[in-house]
Formats: sequence, structure tokens, C-alpha cells
Amino acid sequence: MRKPLVAGNWKMNGTSAKNVLLLDGILAQKDKFSSVNVAIFPPAVYLHQVQMALQSSGLSWGTQNLSQFRQGAYTGEISAAMLKDFGCKYVLIGHSERRCLYAELDLDQLVLDHIVADKIDMALTEGVTPIICIGESPEEHAKGQTEEVIARLMDIVINQSGVKALAQTVLAYEPVWAIGTGKSATPEWAQEVHSFMRERVAKHDRATAESLQILYGGSVKGDNAAPLFSMPDIDGGLVGGASLDADEFVKICQAACS
Ligand code: PEP
Repeated sequence: MRKPLVAGNWKMNGTSAKNVLLLDGILAQKDKFSSVNVAIFPPAVYLHQVQMALQSSGLSWGTQNLSQFRQGAYTGEISAAMLKDFGCKYVLIGHSERRCLYAELDLDQLVLDHIVADKIDMALTEGVTPIICIGESPEEHAKGQTEEVIARLMDIVINQSGVKALAQTVLAYEPVWAIGTGKSATPEWAQEVHSFMRERVAKHDRATAESLQILYGGSVKGDNAAPLFSMPDIDGGLVGGASLDADEFVKICQAACS
């Protein structure tokens, strides 16, 4: 039985004062979603604030990215060991907004997939659970390349880290055309892709596939979360915009309660 996980990605939003209100608003209602794992991903500068607020709450926290390198002359980067130092349980890896930034530097998608795989290895070394974001762009979607895009990254990770490593990760299907657009995938579409992802792992190791949490992300809101989360292969959500409103976020967490 996979316990649902709802992850709130604050992206580059928040102030110290606004964060207090948001966290207080969520914590005041935490009895409403006690059967769900919940994690918050603030901008890294607020990590300590979030750690202090959540440390005895049962909720978890993490960052939106990490370096693929262990330590040293990498100005502006954050290492896996630092995440561990701040009590992070999870880290988002390969978010499409990060990919877009790198793509501006003309890095090939295949190169990016290998960087994602290196980051996953680094997180696992420190015992921080990677939430691996995978999804097709609007152009790839229009060309019917969803499975190809997803299989490419999954195969790189499986070849590099081994299928057993996936058992210590969470996957998130995040179609880029649904992120921040208000246009969520339908539950049926998302289920089909999640099932494809699980089967891809099952070809190597069925037990790992069965235990693997696969989240859906892309314009999840309080009023569309329940039908998405009711699908057999959708184990919760990665939530961006709606995680900035305490009541809306709590509604989504409640929708994940079975
Ligand atoms: C995200 O940032 O991962 C995301 C899914 O954003 P949104 O919920 O705003 O579409």
C-alpha cells in the first residue's frame, strides 16, 4: 500500500512574514490530512525558517534543486550534504523550470538527463529522497512523444543508478504544458502515463515498481485533485501555484486522504 504524498513547490515566492502566515495556516489544519505525507519546498534561503516551523509537525521539507557536485568551487550551488544538514527529507530534481533555464545555455536534453541522473545519485548518497520530475513539452506532446521523453530519462537513471535505487526515489509526472497554465491533464491521461512509468520499472523489478510513489504535477487545485488522486497509479501531487494558499493546499492534501 503506497501512502500518498503531497508536495508544495513554492518556486521563487515568499517573504519571511508571508511564510509564517502560510505555514501557520497549513499547520492549524494538519489534523485534516493526517493519513497523507506532506512536504514543503521553499526557496533555499527560507529553508531554516521552514525547518524550524515544521520540525515537530510531522510534515517534511526540502529544496527545489541541488548540485550534482559534492563540494567546492561551484558558486551559488547547494550540495546534498547541506540539505541533510538542514533536515531535508526530499529534494526536487529535474523540474522543467530548471531545464528551461539550462536549455537557454544550449544544453542538449540528453545531457540534461545525465545531469539529473548525477543529481539523483548525489541526493541518494546523503539519504535525501529525490523527487524526479519528468514530463513532455507542449511541442513533444503535440508530436505524440510523451512516452519517448519519459522513457529516455527513466532508462538513463535505471542504467546509471540501478533499478533498486528507484525504490528510494519518488517520480513526478509533470507535463510541461500543464504547469502553471491552469490546464491540468485529465485523470485518464495522467493515469495512462503513470501506468506506463510503473510498467517501465516493472520490466526490471516488479516489487520496486509496486512500491514506487508516482506523483502528478500540473495545475493541481482543490477542485480537480480528488479525481486525479483516485486513479490507481497516481499516488499524490506536486503542487506549485496552489501551494501558496493555505486553504487551497489543505484541500488538495485532504483530497489525497483515502
Ligand atoms: C510545479 O511547479 O511543479 C507545478 C506543478 O506548478 P503548478 O501547480 O502551478 O502547475
